[in-house]
This record gives sequence, C-alpha cells and structure tokens, in this order.
Amino acid sequence: MARLNLQRADLLAERSYIAGEWVAGNGGAVAVTNPATGETIATIQGVGADETRRAVEEADRAQRLWRARPVKERANLLRAWFNLVMQHKDDLARILTAEQGKTLDEARGEIVYGANYIEWFAEEAKRIDGDIIPPPANDRRLLVIKQPVGVVAAITPWNFPNAMITRKAAPALAAGCTVVLKPARETPLSALALAVLAEEAGIPAGVFNVVVGASSSEIGGVLSSHPLVRKLSFTGSTGVGKMLITQCATTVKRTSMELGGNAPFIVFDDADVDAAVQGALQSKYRNSGQTCVCSNRLLVQDGIHDAFVAKLKQAVSEFRLGNGAEPGVTHGPLVSEKAAREVSAMVDEAVASGAKALVGGSRSSLGSCFFEPTVLTGVTPKMRVFREEIFGPVAPVVRFRTEEEAIELANDTEFGLAAYFYTRDLGRIFRVGEALECGIVGVNSGLISNEMAPFGGVKESGSGREGSRYGIMDYLEIKYLCVGVE
Ligand code: NAP
Repeated sequence: MARLNLQRADLLAERSYIAGEWVAGNGGAVAVTNPATGETIATIQGVGADETRRAVEEADRAQRLWRARPVKERANLLRAWFNLVMQHKDDLARILTAEQGKTLDEARGEIVYGANYIEWFAEEAKRIDGDIIPPPANDRRLLVIKQPVGVVAAITPWNFPNAMITRKAAPALAAGCTVVLKPARETPLSALALAVLAEEAGIPAGVFNVVVGASSSEIGGVLSSHPLVRKLSFTGSTGVGKMLITQCATTVKRTSMELGGNAPFIVFDDADVDAAVQGALQSKYRNSGQTCVCSNRLLVQDGIHDAFVAKLKQAVSEFRLGNGAEPGVTHGPLVSEKAAREVSAMVDEAVASGAKALVGGSRSSLGSCFFEPTVLTGVTPKMRVFREEIFGPVAPVVRFRTEEEAIELANDTEFGLAAYFYTRDLGRIFRVGEALECGIVGVNSGLISNEMAPFGGVKESGSGREGSRYGIMDYLEIKYLCVGVE
C-alpha cells in the first residue's frame, strides 16, 4: 500500500476481528497516528461492550473444539502462523514503526522476537505432560493432568505492539485456550495484522479475536467481569493492573500481571567499563527508553563513576534522533506528545533539585513527540527520576560507595521487574544476584529477554511468567484424578 509501502496491503486491517469476521462496531472511532509525523495512518470504527461480550461468547464456543484438537494439530497451526509472521516481517515492521515510532531495525527485531514466542510455544504444546503420584494405599492410583484454563482475555500496551501479544496468545493457544485480545489504542494495527496472518494460517474462527475500541474501560470492564473469561493476562502500568485485579476478583479469575518497573543498573568498580557502557546503552535507550525492563537508574561506584559517565556521555551524543523509518536514525520519537511532556517534567524537576544534564535534557525541535537522549548526573533517591518509571531516553546517574549501599538503593522501590549489574568478581555475582528483589537479573548483560527464559516480576511489578517452559503454566489448570482400583 502506498501509504506505508507495504507489499501486502491487506495487512493494514482497520476493523476488529471477532469469530473470524472483520467487524466495524459502534464503540467510537480510533484514529492511529504516526508519532514521528503526526499523520493519521488509519481510522478504526471501534467496538464497545456489546461486541466484546459477543467476542467472549464466541471464544467460549470455539474453545470447546479447540481444546479437543490433537495437540499436534494445534502445534502445526501455530507453526504455520509463525512462518507467515516471518515471511511478512518487513511489512509488519513498517506498520509497527508507523504506529509506534521505533526505528525500522528495532521493529524488525521485535517482529522476530515476537515470532520466536509462537515458534517456542508451538513446540511446548507437545510437552504438556502430567504426573503419576505414588498413592498412600494400594487401592487407588493418583494422576495429575493439565487442562486449558478456558477463555483468556489479554490486554496489551503500545511499547511492544507485536511481541506483547504473541507472548500471551501463543502459550494460550498452545495450551488449548482461546483468546480475546484488546491491544492499546495507540497501536492496534500490529495486533490486527497478526490476526490477518492467524486467519491465513488456518487458526479457526473464534480462537484468536482482537477487539479495538475507543473506550478501554468499557472493553476492559467486560473482559474483567464476564463469567466466561477464566483468565486475564495484562501487560501495562501498575495502576491499571491493580484496578483490573480488583475487577477480576468478583468472578475469581486467574490473572497474570506484567506491570511497571524501575530497574537499577549497577556498575561496580571492578567492571569492564566499555562493556558496562554498551550494556547501559542497550538497556536504557532501546525503544527510546520505553520498555518495562529499561534500566531506570544507573548506580555507579565511586572509583569508576567519572570514567563511566564520560564514555556514556560520548556515546549518547552520537545518537541520531529522528523518524524511525528513515535510514541512519538510531532513536525515534516517544509514543505521544503526552509522553514527551511527562518525561520533560521529570527531567526539569531533577535539574531544579540539583541534577545536571550532561547531554540532552529537553524536548526536541523535531516534533512534539521527540525528547532528546539525556544523561543526568548528581541524581539523588528523592528525585522522581529515581523513584518513578521514566519511560523515556533519560539516564539518571547516582553515585554509591559500597556493595551494601548499592543493594539497598537498588531494592528501595515498590517495583521488582529487572535489574542489571556489571562486575568481574564471581562471589559478588552470586551475592548481588541473590540479594536483588526482582524477577530478572542481567549480569554483565544489558539484553535479557528471549523466548527461552522466564520473564516476569515480583513486588508491584506483577505476577506470572511469560516465555520459557514455565510460561505455558499460566494457561493451564492442574486436575487431580484419584482412581480406585480393585
Ligand atoms: P497502560 O496505560 O496501563 O495501558 C496498557 C493497556 O491497558 C492498554 O491496552 C490500555 O488501553 C489498557 N487500559 C488502560 N486503561 C484501562 C482500563 N480502565 N481497563 C482496561 N484496560 C485499560 O500502560 P501503557 O502506558 O500503555 O504501557 C506502559 C506500561 O506497561 C509501563 O508501566 C511498562 O512498564 C508496562 N510494561 C510492562 C511489561 C512487563 O512485561 N512487565 C512490558 C511492557 C510494558 P488503551 O491504550 O486503549 O487505553
């Protein structure tokens, strides 16, 4: 399509997908804009509560047939979906960059990363095995089987418009569940493109549904209260996650919550300084700082502080901010003007309280959604940039003296998703790795996420794990059979 230079124009779908039909609803128009240019790239006639209810009921009907399909058939359909996503990765990346802003390179990376979850869970579908437990007496046998939870509602954010969906939908479908997905309003096109390819792969009507609408509370209200939804899997902010947990309580739904983070990135004196700078660049500035596992606070030990900061400053000054679809651009805009304003307010407050912007520090003249890649020094734990998730390309640097102090600073947050540290001391790797209160630790590595490893948080960063052999358990119930024998 001329608009986005797509080879497959039909991947740009502008309707919700319910029970195998493409539906224009009465739930208000959703305009999707390109944050780099401000242009409207699509307008979706969104659905509301009625269509969402219908999607849940259709997903329930479809689930009875889907769970009964031999596991190998489900696995083969997932594999076909994976193949199509990989085949169309360039088009999917273009759609993603246009609606979200990240560079085309990063978008392609996300499509492959997201597809890896489909491939992984197509394989894991065949390994949903049970147990035989030794009985307390010989007159019975004890068996454990695993069964699909049922209809799964999934609500996903805009920062990974493709991968946050496949991380939920692939294990759910592999387990024999069906899915009603509500993507973020800013980025529904990547979700709908996945639905086009799911249909093409032969995934039956009603198994994977996508509802897009102008009112997230209306759609979310149905998904979190409908008795036929047995599980809600959410990725997004901690505030919305807490509200959804409360709403799910009335029908005692299972929940998985992938919520906000405030990752510390600790550099000890004995670290390889170049490797630490490289890790900080990857973990802080990827997706222009808009990932839940982005390092949010750089804690740097006294002895290495100045060398680390000088090299970080140099590297960040070499970034090229711009439209992510243009060659040579290393960092795109933030997802919205509101996001740019919020990041700006946090940086201004830090500077007013004594922090210093070594690079960047303000919004860019490139457009309303752009914020300059920034390094702040002299940050203290009282500042908002230390306490809150920044979700922008801003690295606040805090100086510390001892290992104990670093651990205390790192754990001084209600969040517990990811943490990173750099050291060459083996004993310290285990001491610090075990002491950090979080679900994921990167040791001498700024990139931690892949489909083979468990992803998820502790404390107010959520519950449940995505990816790995553990990820499918979020979509399975355990049933115990006690069989009396003669
Ligand atoms: P958000 O505002 O919580 O939105 C996430 C999703 O929730 C969107 O689909 C949004 O829909 C929906 N939503 C908002 N209000 C709702 C309501 N009342 N009822 C039902 N659904 C509702 O979060 P965000 O700003 O998009 O995403 C950024 C957050 O996600 C950050 O905190 C980040 O750390 C977190 N995140 C966590 C992980 C992880 O794995 N832990 C991964 C990625 C992101 P609309 O867009 O339509 O309003």
